[in-house]
Amino acid sequence: MTLQIELNGVNKYYGAFHALKNIDLAIKKGSFVALVGPSGCGKSTLLRSLAGLEKISAGELKIAGDLMTNVPPRKRDVAMVFQSYALYPHMTVEENLTYSLRIRGINKSEARKAAEDVATTTGLMPLLKRYPRELSGGQRQRVAMSRAIIRNPKAFLFDEPLSNLDASLRVHMRKEIRLLHDRLKATSVYVTHDQIEAMTMADHVVVMRDGVIEQQGHPLALYDKPANRFVAGFIGSPAMNFIPAQVSADGAQLHLAFGERRETFGLTTHLEPSRKLLVGLRPENLSLVPVGEGDFDIVIALVESTGSSTYVTTITEPELTIVVSGGRAMRSGDRMGLKIDPMSVHLFDLDSGRRLP
Ligand code: ATP
Repeated sequence: MTLQIELNGVNKYYGAFHALKNIDLAIKKGSFVALVGPSGCGKSTLLRSLAGLEKISAGELKIAGDLMTNVPPRKRDVAMVFQSYALYPHMTVEENLTYSLRIRGINKSEARKAAEDVATTTGLMPLLKRYPRELSGGQRQRVAMSRAIIRNPKAFLFDEPLSNLDASLRVHMRKEIRLLHDRLKATSVYVTHDQIEAMTMADHVVVMRDGVIEQQGHPLALYDKPANRFVAGFIGSPAMNFIPAQVSADGAQLHLAFGERRETFGLTTHLEPSRKLLVGLRPENLSLVPVGEGDFDIVIALVESTGSSTYVTTITEPELTIVVSGGRAMRSGDRMGLKIDPMSVHLFDLDSGRRLP
């Protein structure tokens, strides 16, 4: 396994503020890594540290095996792609693409050949003579990508590149970026606060919070076995439901606490009797059945249909979200049975929030 990027014990302080706390991260050559987390968690700081735009306070950062401590940004051989595109407005697409080659002394015809090669890959050939103002958002994004590709960098660093685009173009562009990554056999690090983007694009997702990596791994591993309550609530859409609960005296059942109300359902494994914990139920692992046929009954507070599926919110405290396919006949006020798939129950320690094995 060749590592393209390595961070060992990386820390970053802005004055007294500790923005990155002991970050260890190993990025394989050819992988697509997403850094994801809520606003302020440090993902941009981490990406900017890779690019050399921030100086790390402690630890070690290597790119392609070389220590980057004293290497300035332009010598790191990585390419940043931003949401703002940062295209030169007075230059054509071709000039935007060749600019970085020309300033490095590559002659005009060679630079043009390189631009045409990249434009063929990214579908920009027909647009080479246009100016940025004559392009759509998606096309501008493609120029920004192409400008990064033409430098043949050791890694692509994406800082929320799609957040300016409308929803359908985002979906299109995320496929396009991923396909380009595969075609170029590139190494990509992609910052986003959108967990769907992270899940669908990356083969390795890094979930951050408050400057710490909470969990990293394959997107489906994070979905199936979130290490703690934070990751469980962050990965998956709509978000996981959390209910305080207590194991029954015989260890075979769980009593869910909905305010004063207790609802019980059977476990497939035995747990420590009477232990208090937090139960996590994904909306897609709950189903609605006729009254009396589920684990317990609920009353529907709200029905939101997307056409293909329906999001149901219950009148409970805490409220539950349930996703059902179809579900067009459901109405608020309906009483129904709620069935919990016992194999899909996630359990977390009440105090630490850590997953229970
Ligand atoms: P967002 O999604 O909002 O961009 P982020 O996860 O990318 O958030 P960062 O931009 O990395 O977050 O910022 C991490 C923390 O460091 C934040 O609390 C931010 O306020 C702080 N921070 C960032 N840059 C500086 C700076 N130059 N000086 C002081 N604090 C900073």
